[in-house]
Amino acid sequence: MNKVTLCSRVVKCDIIYAVKRIATLLFLVILASAVAAEVDLNVSYPAISRGRTLTVKLITDEKISEVKGEFLSKPLYLYDVNDGYRAYIPIPLTASPGYYPLSISYQDADGNDQEITKQIKIKPGVFRLASFSVPVTKTKLMKRPKVMDDWVHIEKVLVKENPHQLWEGTFIYPLKNYYITLPFGARETVNGQKRGQHRGVDFGSELKEKTDIFAVNSGEVVLARWLDVFGGTVVIDHGQGVHSLYYHLSKVFVEPEQIVEKGAIIGKMGTTGASNGIHLHLGLSVHNVRVEPLQWLKGQI
Ligand SMILES: [Zn+2]
Repeated sequence: MNKVTLCSRVVKCDIIYAVKRIATLLFLVILASAVAAEVDLNVSYPAISRGRTLTVKLITDEKISEVKGEFLSKPLYLYDVNDGYRAYIPIPLTASPGYYPLSISYQDADGNDQEITKQIKIKPGVFRLASFSVPVTKTKLMKRPKVMDDWVHIEKVLVKENPHQLWEGTFIYPLKNYYITLPFGARETVNGQKRGQHRGVDFGSELKEKTDIFAVNSGEVVLARWLDVFGGTVVIDHGQGVHSLYYHLSKVFVEPEQIVEKGAIIGKMGTTGASNGIHLHLGLSVHNVRVEPLQWLKGQI
């Protein structure tokens, strides 16, 4: 007995046929939409604290173009990676906590404009208070014109963005046998005066000025010089808007345009510039916004 003989009347047969057609069409529509959903927007943290770095990845095996993005009213720096596009977003310490839309637009393989939006929560973050004193002779260095002079040199190199990724894998700590003397984001009071938040991590070490300072990852040295406030200073460009900054060094062993490998000795710890003791100030800049370096050193990007 075949299926046709199940139909006692022609009308009943037509209904079964129609239902089968609709089911097939529905299946094809579901399958097509599943196949079309080849572009995925991944974010490392849907809720992130101020001062940290958010990684955004648009994963696709489709040929898309015109990829653009925006967050906190600023365009994203989206770079082509193996399986899509990636952007690192620094969350400024000054951002207001709340929910903000992250949007990415692109043109799909058929030339149609597409947009994906996600809500990101910015959390306030926890930052401790830190009160300390700096000798009067050194505070003179922290006066506005001196700081501004130093900033000119540093800003000049941080705004340059090498589109190639020069770093490899996880970032490493810039010294051995360290302890942290002042965390990132600490609200500083220096000689009784409020001075804003600490924009790097301060490390101490028992070896004092004998402590070797390592490059936290591979890159190009873009600044290596003496500055009034920051003392012996090195800035390494790791590419794609990521820079590491090393201040107060007693000795600097590298020079601008030098390519360094991850772990290369770039100098010795010191207390040069406006510093109150032998330590290393490590800064990490993402698109010229200072972020928590430990997040990168711990591979939590
Ligand atoms: Zn510091």
